[in-house]
Amino acid sequence: MSIIENIQTIEKQISNKGVTLVAVSKTKPVAMLMEAYQAGFKRFGENYVQELTGKYNEMPKDIEWHFIGHLQSNKVKYIAPFVSLIHSVDSFKLLQEINKQAAKNNRIINCLLQIYIAEEDTKSGMTEEECLQILNPDTLKNLTHINIVGLMGMTTLTEDETQIRKEFRKLKTFHDSIVSTYPFLTTLSMGMSGDYEIAIEEGSTMIRVGSKIFGHRVYPT
Ligand SMILES: *Cc1c(COP(=O)(O)O)cnc(C)c1O
Repeated sequence: MSIIENIQTIEKQISNKGVTLVAVSKTKPVAMLMEAYQAGFKRFGENYVQELTGKYNEMPKDIEWHFIGHLQSNKVKYIAPFVSLIHSVDSFKLLQEINKQAAKNNRIINCLLQIYIAEEDTKSGMTEEECLQILNPDTLKNLTHINIVGLMGMTTLTEDETQIRKEFRKLKTFHDSIVSTYPFLTTLSMGMSGDYEIAIEEGSTMIRVGSKIFGHRVYPT
């Protein structure tokens, strides 16, 4: 199956479900992204700042770039001029830096708050309490250059479907409990290659799919 066929298969599965596909292209060469781009697909997710800025510089400017990996505050400045959505805001300090860099670029940057849902401590994210503190209007009122548009979660790395479903459901339940107070939280980013079908059943509105589109990744040593 080609990259384009893989995208089309997933797009077909999610059509009419109100779910958006982000093609996760980390570690993959520009030529592979261009295959998707030339077929009309323009929404890519990257994890590494340097790789993302390199691809941004090389590729057409109408691409929607999503940052999905752990983001260090001192690197926000490199992506602030162009990033469309940062999925992985895991602290108030990071959010303040995004706001500052967005202001410098005369932009408003869309952000998701990453909530810790996994039962292992390798995945980053904030607790529900930290999230609620950030969403407090008093906290947010000075951050005029960010737009919080939803929540993101990553599950435990396991084959256990019951466990994965439980973790997605935890995030959805939390979202349900706060969305009437914060109706701007329209996006729920959850689900990757191995579990996006479960994620959609549990209420995901945005899936981040890499290896099912581009094939397995080989990380540089
Ligand atoms: C790599 C990555 C993905 C995509 O993973 P696949 O299993 O290849 O689909 C999704 N989300 C995040 C945060 C990632 O780092």
